[in-house]
Amino acid sequence: MWYFLCVFLLFSCSGCQNSPSKLEEWIQPSGKVKVLSTTAIIDDIVRQVGGERIAHLALIEGAMDPHSYEIVKGDAEKLSYAQVIFYNGLGLEHGASLRYQLKQHPKAIALGDQIREKNPNAILFEKGQIDPHIWLDISIWAEIIDPIVQALSEVDPDSREYFQANGKKTLENLLNLDASLVQKLQEVPAKKRYLVTSHDAFNYFTRRYLHDGPDWKDRFCAPEGLAPDGQLSCQDIQMVIDYLIRHQVPIVFPESSVSRDSLKKILSVCNEKKMEVKIAGAALYSDTLGPSGSYQAMMEHNVNVLYKAWTP
Ligand SMILES: [Zn+2]
Repeated sequence: MWYFLCVFLLFSCSGCQNSPSKLEEWIQPSGKVKVLSTTAIIDDIVRQVGGERIAHLALIEGAMDPHSYEIVKGDAEKLSYAQVIFYNGLGLEHGASLRYQLKQHPKAIALGDQIREKNPNAILFEKGQIDPHIWLDISIWAEIIDPIVQALSEVDPDSREYFQANGKKTLENLLNLDASLVQKLQEVPAKKRYLVTSHDAFNYFTRRYLHDGPDWKDRFCAPEGLAPDGQLSCQDIQMVIDYLIRHQVPIVFPESSVSRDSLKKILSVCNEKKMEVKIAGAALYSDTLGPSGSYQAMMEHNVNVLYKAWTP
């Protein structure tokens, strides 16, 4: 009785982001490992490693902001049904209710924190705060594969070799893509590789793909902090204007999941100063996966948008 009530609540709740069929499939007894990932970006790598032996689901879907996501009706059931939960950690999921649930779960794994433990130099800080956007550097994101293989194998030891083989294939695929994207953006003349977006999501991306020696930090600028909040001070606006002038940047890039208001405010000041700066037509994917549902396609999209805009 309780089970059917749960299923009914899950399907009828207003907060559910997954279609009933997807949720229904996930929740039914199937003999597959039930895996929940906080973001669709993690979920796609989990899908590639787990293949047909797992039932996977993402908690935060569409254009929802993972930084401030709070538990909605129906989420508690998803969290309790999950045999394994993967989350980004490094302070990304800082909504109080979600953080509390993740702490309570016996098998919730913070993938970013594991990377930090193993490879502390990989992790960046912004004004003293950990930058959680590790997925925007494929060479770092590939390091989540091992902990995923390990955790899935602990729940389903008979599938260990299957998970390991998928993990190896996924790793090769990611590293090949990483190398090709590094090469592509390094073809863009160094004087053009100055990126301006809405929030501080692209530090890892810049270090990996836009670098030009030790000055990589100066190749990225954004008015909003590590979590987009839309609160701009006059100093934030002035900082970006100075940057645009200093590097003669003619184009800024919106992000699919962040309001364009802050970029519009900056552009209106640019117009008053008779500076020719425009907002790119195509948005970048920073904190969300985009309609392709594929992590690799999302990264290729970002690189293609920049390449096209910078090499007219
Ligand atoms: Zn972000």
